[in-house]
Parts: sequence; C-alpha cells; structure tokens
Amino acid sequence: MNRRNYQRELEQIIERNQREGKVPRLLLHSCCAPCSSYVMEYLSRYFSITLFYYNPNIYPPEEYEKRVEEQARLTDCQPHLHPVTFLEGTYDPDRFFQMAKGHEKDREGGERCFGCYELRLREAAQAARDGGYDYFTTTLSISPLKNAEKLNEIGERVAEEYQVAYLPSDFKKKGGYQRSVELSREYGLYRQNYCGCVYSRSQGKVGQQDSTEEGQQDSIDMLDTPVHL
Ligand code: SF4
Repeated sequence: MNRRNYQRELEQIIERNQREGKVPRLLLHSCCAPCSSYVMEYLSRYFSITLFYYNPNIYPPEEYEKRVEEQARLTDCQPHLHPVTFLEGTYDPDRFFQMAKGHEKDREGGERCFGCYELRLREAAQAARDGGYDYFTTTLSISPLKNAEKLNEIGERVAEEYQVAYLPSDFKKKGGYQRSVELSREYGLYRQNYCGCVYSRSQGKVGQQDSTEEGQQDSIDMLDTPVHL
C-alpha cells in the first residue's frame, strides 16, 4: 500500500485556496515555540492564523509557564505575511493524568502518546468549530520523534466528529525540521530537554536546565539533535 504524502496534500489545499483568492482562517495547535517557529513562518504566507497553545501534558506547572511565555514571545516578535494571534487554552493537567492512567510506564512514542495527541487535537477541533475557523491542524508533525501517520489519522477522525476541516501535515518534510532549528537559534528560543509530561521527564536524560555558561552551550549544541521536540 502506498504511504500518503501529507505534505503534498497540504500543498494541494494551499494551491486551491490561492487559485480562489482565499486566505482561510486556521486554528494552529502548537506544542512549543521551537516547533511552531517554522510552521508559523510557512503557513502564515497562506492563512490567517490563531496560534492555539493547549498542552495539559506539560509538567511541572513552572515548565508550562516557561513554555507558554516563550510561545507568546515568539508569536509576537516573528514577522508574518498574514496576521498571527495567540490564544492560550486551559491548563488542565488532571485531564492529561486521567487519560494517561494505566499507561504511566509506556515508552515514549507508544499508546500514551497517541492519547496525548488526541487530547490536544480534540481540544483544537472543538475550538476551531466554536470559533468558526476554516481549518485546524497541529505543529506536532514537525518532530522526528512524533508519529505523523497517527497524528493525521487522529486529526481526520476528530475533524469528522466536530465537522471542521483538518489540514494534513508532515511539517518535518521540505527541510521543515532543519528550519525550525535555525529559527530557534535566531530567536534564542528555550528548547526543552524532555517532551513534556512527567513520564518523559523522568525518562529524559536531563531534568533541569543548566544555567551555567557551559550548560547554556550544551543547550545550544542540542539544537542540532532531534531530541525532545
Ligand atoms: S511523551 Fe510527550 S507525547 Fe508522549 S504522553 Fe508525554 S508529553 Fe505526551
């Protein structure tokens, strides 16, 4: 069976809207500033975007605050062809823990992560429907550590349920991931060293950022590795 080319499908949707002279409204779920940097740069050429930050998976709350502030800062200072506005969802970690019950020991990339994708995509679909958006999607597929097929499968399923169009994506394609690394450097973005939840934090190799000069250099060096996006 041929694998779907989600990037090509996205390009076809963009081309169609351009031919029709449309700038559709997109609700773009974002997992973090580094992942959203390239996606905002790319999609704001064709869409009017609301950047939706909904990530109840992030632990602890101080880490959530750090990530959301960085997201708001980037959204504000990055230039965009069409407007990009910022919308913070509710930080409700209990929903995440409820979903993760019984999957605490799953490896990263397993069933718990699929539930985590769905939790966030479902909230995005609902917000897109309630706000009358033309499309919704997520930045998550830019990460080499995330399962693009699964993300698109879930996106399409919840789109059907909420009756709002989903934009297929595999943002790591066409140099997307590499560009996000460049933009992270350019804007001096905070790049976390674990995916987000308490389980990934304890499995991750580093639990805390090192604020020493050497530690800062390590963080910069990590920009070249595909870890923990
Ligand atoms: S490892 Fe990442 S994707 Fe998986 S459950 Fe934790 S936060 Fe969600």
